[in-house]
Amino acid sequence: MIDVLIVGGGPAGLTLAILLTRAGLTVRVVEARDTPQEHSRAIGLHPPAVDVLHAAGIAKEAIASGVPIRRGLGLSSGRRIAALDFDVLTGRHPFILSLPQATTTELLTARLRELDPQALLVGHALTTFRQDDRGIHATMTGRPAPITARYLVGADGVGSTVRPLAGLPFAGSLYPDHYVMGDYPDTTGFGATAALLLHPEGIVESFPLPGGLRRWVAWHRPADATTLPSLIERRTGYRVDPDAATMHSRFRCSHRAVAQMVHGRVILIGDAAHEISPIGGQGMALGLLDAAALAPLLTRAGTKGSTPADLLAAFSRDRLRAAARAGRQAHLNMALGRPLPRVLDQVRAAAITAVARSKPLTDAVAHRFTMSRGFR
Ligand SMILES: Cc1cc2nc3c(=O)[nH]c(=O)nc-3n(C[C@H](O)[C@H](O)[C@H](O)COP(=O)(O)OP(=O)(O)OC[C@H]3O[C@@H](n4cnc5c(N)ncnc54)[C@H](O)[C@@H]3O)c2cc1C
Repeated sequence: MIDVLIVGGGPAGLTLAILLTRAGLTVRVVEARDTPQEHSRAIGLHPPAVDVLHAAGIAKEAIASGVPIRRGLGLSSGRRIAALDFDVLTGRHPFILSLPQATTTELLTARLRELDPQALLVGHALTTFRQDDRGIHATMTGRPAPITARYLVGADGVGSTVRPLAGLPFAGSLYPDHYVMGDYPDTTGFGATAALLLHPEGIVESFPLPGGLRRWVAWHRPADATTLPSLIERRTGYRVDPDAATMHSRFRCSHRAVAQMVHGRVILIGDAAHEISPIGGQGMALGLLDAAALAPLLTRAGTKGSTPADLLAAFSRDRLRAAARAGRQAHLNMALGRPLPRVLDQVRAAAITAVARSKPLTDAVAHRFTMSRGFR
């Protein structure tokens, strides 16, 4: 019997596997995909998430591969209305690290393989499991014998197989908003600064990426056939080269969560437990923080005993509270970026300008926006 079977080799599952392996537990991660996911999702790693990468032993490589963002600007009709400086942050990593999720996953995978070459089992999807007083018996595709483990952690994302098998409902809803995003060579001069460009037709967001690229994300109406480059130019005046796009996609946003992350010896972490809107880029950070909070609890009992149920219940409560807080922030971010009639757009810009004049308020926003307080 192994100590912990983790289903899902995404950022949350890999991070947990590294932390547990480093602590001396025997861990297996089953990952359904046999090739890495190329499609880019997360790019922003908030300061507490970079701290977790540090605990996992990959912060140095991650920072060297990414772009530390230390400043955010708010613009309206080409005019600067607010600036957020992250130098008010006091932790070890006072910046949001821009790093494509595929690179983060690659670094985590390499680290886990270095710690235990047997730990990651790719190309096997969990199909079913049962639990009893002593542990878990799990069945995977492509493996005739079940794996038995003391604990099973579902880190298998929003489409989790573990969650319904554990009987944990995922409640929430889909937002009405639609977004389009793409990565293009940087033509802005913003450098390592993030920019949120408000417009009556909806927000356009622009973030630095490694390799001289920028990610653009724009609110859009599904019926509007305007391409992203045209939409960026119309709303912001910046021109991007449509032929130089390295990624282009559309997405919608949901917020959903389980009521409990723990069911006996089964524990959910990351998107499998809570999905929040990507606007604000906090989802992956939450998953890494779940892993960092769970690892000491599973390690605590050593390789024989079990973690007291009350500690796991407190873990579930605290992590769902953090996810709800991040969800409220994402909700606000989305509301601020929706289309508005021109007059109300001006009122919105005036309100943001007024807040930006207050140092205590901008400092509080910087802490909130970077998840620096209250998310661990
Ligand atoms: C457009 C977009 C932008 C985003 N931007 C950000 C951002 O800037 N910052 C941020 O923090 N977050 C961001 N997010 C959210 C972030 O991508 C997710 O929160 C993150 O990927 C969740 O990690 P995870 O490990 O929980 O799940 P996932 O990354 O979904 O990984 C789950 C893994 O489980 C595997 N799996 C599934 N079922 C099984 C099974 N039955 N057996 C075995 N394996 C299985 C899957 O193949 C997958 O590899 C964004 C999301 C989107 C959509």
